[in-house]
Amino acid sequence: MAAPVNIIVGSHVWVEDPVLAWVDGEVFRINGEEVHINRTDGKMVVANISKVFPKDTEAPPGGVDDMTKLSYLHEPGVLHNLAMRYELNEIYTYTGNILIAVNPFQRLPHLYDTHMMEQYKGAAFGELSPHVFAVADASYRAMINEGKSNSILVSGESGAGKTETTKMLMRYLAYLGGRSGVEGRTVEQQVLESNPVLETFGNAKTVRNNNSSRFGKFVEIQFDKSGRISGAAVRTYLLERSRVCQISDPERNYHCFYLLCAAPPEEREKYKLGSPSSFHYLNQSNCYALDGVNDAEEYLATRRAMDIVGISEEEQEAIFRVVAAILHLGNIEFAKGEEIDSSVIKDDKSRFHLNTTAELLRCDAKSLENALIKRVMVTPEEIITRTLDPVGALGSRDALAKTMYSRLFDWLVDKINNSIGQDPNSKTLIGVLDIYGFESFKLNSFEQFCINFTNEKLQQHFNQHVFKMEQEEYTKEEINWSYIEFVDNQDVLDLIEKKPGGIIALLDEACMFPKSTHETFAQKLYQTFKNNKRFIKPKLSRTSFTLSHYAGEVTYLADLFLDKNKDYVVAEHQDLLTASTCSFVAGLFPPSPEESSKSSKFSSIGSRFKLQLQSLMETLSSTEPHYIRCVKPNNVLKPAIFENLNIIQQLRCGGVLEAIRISCAGYPTRRTFYEFLLRFGVLAPEVLDGK
Ligand code: ATP
Ligand code: MG
Repeated sequence: MAAPVNIIVGSHVWVEDPVLAWVDGEVFRINGEEVHINRTDGKMVVANISKVFPKDTEAPPGGVDDMTKLSYLHEPGVLHNLAMRYELNEIYTYTGNILIAVNPFQRLPHLYDTHMMEQYKGAAFGELSPHVFAVADASYRAMINEGKSNSILVSGESGAGKTETTKMLMRYLAYLGGRSGVEGRTVEQQVLESNPVLETFGNAKTVRNNNSSRFGKFVEIQFDKSGRISGAAVRTYLLERSRVCQISDPERNYHCFYLLCAAPPEEREKYKLGSPSSFHYLNQSNCYALDGVNDAEEYLATRRAMDIVGISEEEQEAIFRVVAAILHLGNIEFAKGEEIDSSVIKDDKSRFHLNTTAELLRCDAKSLENALIKRVMVTPEEIITRTLDPVGALGSRDALAKTMYSRLFDWLVDKINNSIGQDPNSKTLIGVLDIYGFESFKLNSFEQFCINFTNEKLQQHFNQHVFKMEQEEYTKEEINWSYIEFVDNQDVLDLIEKKPGGIIALLDEACMFPKSTHETFAQKLYQTFKNNKRFIKPKLSRTSFTLSHYAGEVTYLADLFLDKNKDYVVAEHQDLLTASTCSFVAGLFPPSPEESSKSSKFSSIGSRFKLQLQSLMETLSSTEPHYIRCVKPNNVLKPAIFENLNIIQQLRCGGVLEAIRISCAGYPTRRTFYEFLLRFGVLAPEVLDGK
């Protein structure tokens, strides 16, 4: 990465270490390629010269605020710089135009107060310490000056700080583009208050983050000619539906369920709610309370945010009625019926919850019961009613809960959009993207597949922008420099999304063919991609497959791919809720000609997601992008712990090291001729005068 530097006896160097990533030391002997090093921690080690990097002994003790200012631009140098800064609570560092944000895991209020916002307003990029405000300010000014839309792409793994960063960006943009002194429900206030509403319904505690966003989000903030915020739109991506019915210790379900259980007594009574531990959808995990969070207060805060966003009192009542109904629904249990493969409501307790669910949803209890335990099949000859066994009935119950919840979430997003309103005359916008980072777990399923697909797309966008653009710039200006190789990931994208023949297309085919199983689907993948460099069949496995992503290999378990890709609403559920006497509930299930045909039509989540991503990429491509890479310094979510190996892995995945490589090879600063003249013209006034 760095230019070759002579390493001699006495040189201060960095040497690799399996636990600490890099340790510094001094060379005391060189034997051909072998370098003998006395590490500062007292250990003596021998390393190959290609694995030893020079250490900058004259680096300022607090680090540099832009990595491109480092004397040696290599991995240990970058890491050490971030570590030194982090120790001083300097959580932001530039790498050229990319802002790296290391999660402090502690409140740093002075960093984001009004005084700070005032400072950054209009300051030239790079003049003040690196900051999210500086990125927002640069985007805003670029938009005003060039009349072009901008976007800010915030990425990083779960818990790295994307959502917090996004909120700061939005707050700063609202500060710049807001109307000072205007009270009440302004557009910018509505934009800001949409965050707590979406978080209440779309965030949950996971092992990786106490407030993890379980959906992706792109917020478009529209501006009018004078640079004032005039409208906004929120687009969301792939809410995690399975969480509604299934959680594992020590995670939680979506926040809204716990908030509602902590609502004022009269409301809890109205919804017949008790403690969260009395509900199956919540008591699968032993975690109920969150450190430092008061659910009762959060409930009231959510209600206030809903007021500001423009959700009426009546609608709010209906929303929480549906939330309560889902909790009661989850407590309905089934027992074997008298006939084979049939089921009945298990006991009085279950019947109580069935009645309560029906009451809250304003639908008929008997119809709800039938919708849970029976299926009606219409054939040309007759109508056949089939019963479900208790396992089938549980599946039916959970499917209903998931469908209701995801419809509710979509309703909230639509409502927020309608209420804030779009400005049809706006020509420029600033988009802020907060979307799940690359994921690789022990077990990876369809969700990880979609998430990593997203990241491949964003990585390509990043590559194109940072690398291709830079190279094109040099070519255009006929500047002589050698081309840099960068990892192009078009081949992985083809493998995933090509039509026909890509994984998503094959998955859809499998879903439409009734006899497919996850095994036949996996076999089909093995056959089709046996010579594909990016596709690996793990030895001995019959249902898993490995993709070689830009950020590393991930093995996916195909077992639930078919089920998870199928999105349909059971016709019985649809009919039940369309008939609700509550217009809000019925409105979540508008009758559609397709669905009324009593057959459950398949629609592909994968393909729909692919289209959504395509449209997102189109939007992004028409904007000038800015990148913020959030880094999670440790997995215990505590301040002041900086885990080297963990961080290096994230920098690699985020393309930061690649970006550094290219900025090393390129020219560090770029000025337009005009700027150049303005700055350096004084040195040659005769040229300026045209003499
Ligand atoms: P996910 O992908 O799971 O949604 P995320 O990247 O959005 O994760 P956040 O929810 O933004 O992560 O951050 C996780 C936690 O880290 C926050 O709840 C907060 O406690 C802390 N945090 C993040 N950024 C900051 C910051 N700038 N200042 C203080 N605390 C922060
Ligand atoms: Mg988040």
